Amino acid sequence: MNSIQIPNMITVGDLADKLDIPVTGLITELMKNGVMATVNERVDFDTAQIIVEELKLEAELVHEPEEAPVKREKKALSKDAQTRPPVVAVMGHVDHGKTSLLDAIRDSSVVKGEAGGITQHISAYQVKRGERLITFLDTPGHEAFAAIREHGAHLTDLVIIVVAADDGVKPQTIEAIRFARKAGVKIVVAINKIDKEGANINRIKQQLAEQELMVEEWGGDVVVQEVSAKTGAGIDELLDMILLVADVEELKADAKGPASGLVIESHMENGRGPVAIALIESGTLKKNDFVVAGETYARVRNLETTEGKPVDQAGPSTPVKITGFRALPEFADEFTVVKDEKTARSQAEATVGQKRLTGSRGQINSSEMIRIIDRSNQVAQFKVIVKADVQGSLTSVLDSLKALDTNEVAVRIVGSGVGAISENDVNQAHSSDAVIYGFGIALPAGMRQIASRDKVSVRLYKVIYELIDDVKTELSARLAPEIKEIELGKLKIKGVFKTTKNSVICGGEVTSGKLTVPAMVRVKRDKEVLAEVEATNLKRGPQDAKEVVEGEMCGTSLTTQSKLEVLEGDVLEFFTRQTVERSL
Ligand code: GDP
Repeated sequence: MNSIQIPNMITVGDLADKLDIPVTGLITELMKNGVMATVNERVDFDTAQIIVEELKLEAELVHEPEEAPVKREKKALSKDAQTRPPVVAVMGHVDHGKTSLLDAIRDSSVVKGEAGGITQHISAYQVKRGERLITFLDTPGHEAFAAIREHGAHLTDLVIIVVAADDGVKPQTIEAIRFARKAGVKIVVAINKIDKEGANINRIKQQLAEQELMVEEWGGDVVVQEVSAKTGAGIDELLDMILLVADVEELKADAKGPASGLVIESHMENGRGPVAIALIESGTLKKNDFVVAGETYARVRNLETTEGKPVDQAGPSTPVKITGFRALPEFADEFTVVKDEKTARSQAEATVGQKRLTGSRGQINSSEMIRIIDRSNQVAQFKVIVKADVQGSLTSVLDSLKALDTNEVAVRIVGSGVGAISENDVNQAHSSDAVIYGFGIALPAGMRQIASRDKVSVRLYKVIYELIDDVKTELSARLAPEIKEIELGKLKIKGVFKTTKNSVICGGEVTSGKLTVPAMVRVKRDKEVLAEVEATNLKRGPQDAKEVVEGEMCGTSLTTQSKLEVLEGDVLEFFTRQTVERSL
């Protein structure tokens, strides 16, 4: 049995690699086990182990030893390097108040732009404390992790680990601590929700000590600040602490010269095309600069703060909004300014080639999933040796076979020729795992024996389309199954009965289709999709129902990942995902 080392958390793509199975197969198996994960999402060790057992793989998973912390590489600085604002990410267990804390910080002291309000989500922003700036990254947890892991040494100076005073250190808190340590970034702990009754600050300090984070008052060097995102208590002090830690680090960067940094978000905007939010690491970015980011490039058309205020230039640690890209750059793409359009184009093209070889690393959303699975899977091959009676028929068989290739499956002709099937053909088929097709010829008894001994499949045909059909069937069997969404029906919410951290019980009228459970549910308010959750039961009155049809009233329980607010008037779209075998 193979012994395979994997870390505590591993991306689906990396796990498939290690297990030497197609990514699609792994995703399908995860789905069967109720885990909806895309190629770049991470699963934990236990999940990986379950999959290995389910797939009956000859493999034993063992924990990889913890890596030593990454050394923070400091970029070589010139003597003109200037102090720059610290870049801060917020992490912690779900529901401990990361979002609330970021909102509270932003509301209290954001550098307000002239254009637009500050209500919508912004993936990075700067706040002002006195005369000094602090840059906050507001990326969803796993993206922040990914960015810190891969670019920690450059991107983030400090991580605020949020711990809810009434809940304490939890698995994701520990994961966050581990990541911050590995990335070699400073940690400041914010004990949040101190306004709540069950708050027990000493217990949390104790739990932190168990994670080897010793607070200052206990003789350690970990800065802890008690805050309440709800009342605003302690927020100013937290900002001061961040600046204090930053001072010790003596954060500097060269503001002179062409800019470089990292893309932290990208999206399409109506009338503006691809828009990237990028964090400048060093240098100064100016309007009209040529920028390469991953596989794409831009002449910077608009340069704005993340709040939408136009600026002519921006320096180190500043998050900016850039328009002018040819295509959407990906999350965590590094960007650099180059001298002209020609250089930009050729560097972007070089990256395209490189990524094809190494596989893409960007963040994806679920609608892109299928496309990426296709791309990340190597083309499946069906190997054949073709022998035919005359050159004319050999040529037409070979031409027809070549026409069957798609970007997912291909016929690989490892040998061909006119004449009888020889021992040489059988040997070659045996060693390359190919099937022998004979067209218009017979198989001598001696050869039949050899083929059967070597377990080589020899298939004889007299009609060309029958031969082609056989090959098509083989290719279809090698196609990855398609993941299809099947709509069940819609439920218009008339009442919400109970909302907890991980569930919502609500009811309403079925306005179309037929609802069954278990099902996936998209929660929609007007056109906006609020969440994708799972429905576990249906009730007609007090009774459990197998199905509920259009016009009927019913109740349902939704299982949610984090707290979800469902309101009267929201629409629940019920659907299931199925894997469907495909054929050419
Ligand atoms: P996240 O999952 O870590 O981003 O957590 P959220 O910011 O969504 O907060 C989770 C829940 O805790 C929400 O219901 C917040 O209103 C609540 N919450 C966050 N901070 C505080 C706080 O300081 N005090 C109280 N009482 N509730 C808070």
